[in-house]
Amino acid sequence: MVVITLQRKKCIGCNYCVELAPAQFQMSKKDGKSVLLHATEKKGFFTIKTYDETIFEASNEAKKACPVNIIEVKQV
Ligand code: SF4
Repeated sequence: MVVITLQRKKCIGCNYCVELAPAQFQMSKKDGKSVLLHATEKKGFFTIKTYDETIFEASNEAKKACPVNIIEVKQV
């Protein structure tokens, strides 16, 4: 299973995650921050859990590129 978490409040809107993993991330036109698609929110942390292992690589690239380190990607 792949688990992706985004601490959205701290996003600076650089767009790297959207470029690297467009199937998972989109920029919000409302506030200019990244949106983790289909995520559920708990205390400011947005999370998706999926058995689709194919998203791991792109999401992990987004994690590594994020300048404020607010993306977490785990394979569990
Ligand atoms: S890479 Fe990080 S800071 Fe940049 S838009 Fe994505 S979540 Fe926000």
